[in-house]
Amino acid sequence: MFVRINQSATSEQIAAIRSRATEAGLAVYEEPSARGLTLALLGPKGFDEKLGEQIAALPGVNAVARPSRAYRLSSQEFREEPTVVKVRDTVVGGGSLTLMAGPCSIESREQLFEVAAGVAAAGATLLRGGAFKPRSSPYAFQGLGLEGLRLLAEARERTGLPIITEVMEPAQVDMVAEFADVLQIGTRNMQNFSLLNAVGRTRMPVMLKRGLSGTIEEWLLAAEYILAAGNRQVILCERGIRTFETAARNTLDLNAVPILRRLTHLPVIVDPSHATGKRWMVAPMSYAGVAAGADGIMVEVHPKPEEAWSDGEQSLTLPMFSRLAGELRTIHSVVSPLHENPGEALGR
Ligand code: PEP
Ligand code: MN
Repeated sequence: MFVRINQSATSEQIAAIRSRATEAGLAVYEEPSARGLTLALLGPKGFDEKLGEQIAALPGVNAVARPSRAYRLSSQEFREEPTVVKVRDTVVGGGSLTLMAGPCSIESREQLFEVAAGVAAAGATLLRGGAFKPRSSPYAFQGLGLEGLRLLAEARERTGLPIITEVMEPAQVDMVAEFADVLQIGTRNMQNFSLLNAVGRTRMPVMLKRGLSGTIEEWLLAAEYILAAGNRQVILCERGIRTFETAARNTLDLNAVPILRRLTHLPVIVDPSHATGKRWMVAPMSYAGVAAGADGIMVEVHPKPEEAWSDGEQSLTLPMFSRLAGELRTIHSVVSPLHENPGEALGR
């Protein structure tokens, strides 16, 4: 249940509410906001009417609300204000435009440093690069592993760009967290619950990609695992889903952007590279993602896409990225005022 606390409640009253919840076996999560403190009291049994009434009667309680969705901490019922994820000197969400760019896989020092310098000069806000690669085939390049992480950290030193990279299993979390600024959970691991718990315990920014066939509710429940483990720094990434359509690698579900805007406070990034699988589709779908109200995009960039060890077909060249980055800043400056109050902009 969600408990809205009176602005005038004393800390003793709040402590009493908390201990009533813990006695009942519920975990307590706090959300302070300008309108006052909200507590989420969560347990496996769902809403207990009787306990709800008892808590509503405690001093300091303004109201008790029954959650209407299966996910709780990721919902706007718990937190209305958009979450802004701070990553070193930059932020994701809160009206900013995030441009995550870099190679699919880190292949070598030369390749990574060339891309890193190029995307930094073009105004990227984060550098991406895979060191641990979840490949469909066991014979495909699996990534440079630890060596790749070291190169990423060096690229951060050289460019000042924070880095985002994928972590594939719980046993890798400590190692990847030592280097990365944002931990990426790939589409294939959206419902790897032990991995979600493990990144939830780090308190580091995490970008959770939508599962290949994950519904929006399953995706938010996956985010909920990270939040419930104590980590509020979660970013969602729409990267295309499996549909009957085979003309592109996946189908970019742009509906997800306005739907998530309404359901959750978490920032949303669109990845048109994995969504389309085709370089020539990346720019138009990036425009569309930003126009739909996404907080930014993640795109793959390679100095020589035709020689890339993975995902070359969908990788942009450096000049292509540089042009795209400028175009997206223009689009963002036009659309962001419209998204500030979409109800009004749509005449509703
Ligand atoms: C990636 O971004 O490197 C990646 C593997 O993407 P996805 O998990 O969306 O396939
Ligand atoms: Mn890729």
